[in-house]
This record gives sequence, C-alpha cells and structure tokens, in this order.
Amino acid sequence: MKSSNDPTLEQGLAVVRTVADLRRTVAAFRKAGRTVGLVPTMGALHEGHISLVKGALERGDIPVTSIFVNPTQFGPNEDFAAYPRDEQGDFDKLRDAGCRIVFAPSKDEMYPGQQLTTVTVTGITDGLCGPLRPGHFQGVATVVSKLLLMAMPDRAFFGEKDYQQLQVIKRMVRDLSMPFEIVGMPTVREADGLAMSSRNRYMNPTERAVATGLYRELNAVAKAVRAGASCTAATAEASKALLAGGFDKIEYLTVVDAESLEPLEKVSGPARVIAAVRLGRTRLIDNIAA
Ligand code: AMP
Repeated sequence: MKSSNDPTLEQGLAVVRTVADLRRTVAAFRKAGRTVGLVPTMGALHEGHISLVKGALERGDIPVTSIFVNPTQFGPNEDFAAYPRDEQGDFDKLRDAGCRIVFAPSKDEMYPGQQLTTVTVTGITDGLCGPLRPGHFQGVATVVSKLLLMAMPDRAFFGEKDYQQLQVIKRMVRDLSMPFEIVGMPTVREADGLAMSSRNRYMNPTERAVATGLYRELNAVAKAVRAGASCTAATAEASKALLAGGFDKIEYLTVVDAESLEPLEKVSGPARVIAAVRLGRTRLIDNIAA
C-alpha cells in the first residue's frame, strides 16, 4: 500500500456506522490505489464468514464486512428477534482475520424514512426457499443492492451455503448491469460435515448429533444421481433416511440445475443437491454439487 498520513489506511479495523463514513473510508483506500471486496453478513460470525474475508484478502482487496440483521428478509413467524447478535465478538474476529472496515449500521441508517423501492428477482425464486419464505429474497435482493451501492466494491463475496441466494444475487447484478463481480465461495463445514451457520447454536446436543445426517444424505444423493439414478428415487430414499434419523420435517430435498435451479430428473450437466430441513426449532439449509 502507498504510505499515507491517514492512520485508517495503515492498519487495524475501522468501525463505521453511517453510509457517509463508509463512503469516506472506502474512498481513502481507493485513493491509495486499493481495490475493495464487500462481505455482506448478518453477524454472529463463524469460520464460514471469515472464509469470505479471506477470499477478499487473497484477491488483494481491502475487505469491507457489513453486519446488519436485515428485518425485511425475515417472515413474521421467523427468528428476527432471536437471531444471535455479538457485535464485539464479531469485531474481534474480523480484526484477527485482517478485515479493514466493518460497516455496522442502525436500522434507520439502512432504511431512512419510508421505503417505496424494492428489488425483485423472479423465476429462480419460484422454487426451493422462495415459496416457503414469502418476501425473503426480495428483502435480500433489496438490502444487498443497497449495500453494494453504499460500498461500491470491486467484488462482493457470498457463500455457496446459501446457494439460491447466491444465484439470486448473481442474476440481479447481471440483469441490472451492476458493476460488481459476484464471487461464490465454498461452504465451510464442521469436522462432521455440518455446514457452519449462525443458527447452529439453536440446536441442543441431541439435535446437533442428528444434524450431521444432512450432509451424509446429500452426499448419498449426489453419488447416486452421478451414477445415473433417478433424482426422484434418490431424494425420496434420502428423505426417508433423514426422518428415520431424527429430523422433524423435510421442507425440500431435490436435485436442481446449478444455474436455473429448475428441478432435474436425471443429471447430465452442472447440478446441485439442495435441501431445507427442520430439526426442533432450527431450520437447516445445505447443498452440494451433484
Ligand atoms: P449470513 O450472516 O448468514 O447472512 O451469511 C453471510 C454470508 O456468509 C452469506 O454469503 C453466506 O452464504 C455466507 N456463509 C454463511 N455460512 C457459510 C459457510 N458455512 N461457509 C461459507 N459461507 C457461509
């Protein structure tokens, strides 16, 4: 980095709360010749989030992480109030990881006054989580649009863990000609295969032991359909095994085209095995390549 008289540029994590401060801080790095990588999160950070920060660092970007539990992407009966929040812990993790800017705005800073504008991505939101969480992807697309326009990064990093979300964001950026590269990063897992998630802490030890079965069954489906099995048959068998293993409900477990997210019966090109399941009060989502 070019040397500068601005201490923010030299080291450490700048905590910014307002859009004006975010723009000012990002602009200082840009002036010093740096590129910027945005990592949007809802906080309660774990290794999965940190891998996105590392993705930005590996590309030479100044990492900017946003922490905002976005109310508009939660349904009325969802866990907005209970969603884990640990701002100081998050800041410490980000500092350790080499993140340089954290944007942690208030709700009023994100949504000043009445909001009459939203972003809706159709088609790829018709299936999977779309109908199960009405309004969710509109909330996500709108808040991500706002964060992108606030930070104006070169790139933004999203996890494949939320695969439908990643496709929605990619499509939005393409359709609206937004000048940002969207980078999808692999899912970070616990030692037993469970995808890391801020919501994993909702599980009690018994549920946590059951939860490992999801990754195992996703792999069983992927192996079967790659070998030519019918997707319907393979997912039906896996759903049965999950319910027998202690899961309470399978919201969906299906094989879809990796880009359009259309359901497949036979796999011949890029595909994902993708699932949403319920275990006690926890809703788990996961997916892998088929
Ligand atoms: P969230 O805080 O849950 O909104 O997630 C913020 C970002 O982190 C999203 O792009 C997620 O896809 C990503 N993410 C969440 N969990 C993981 C994980 N286990 N591995 C990789 N990325 C993840």
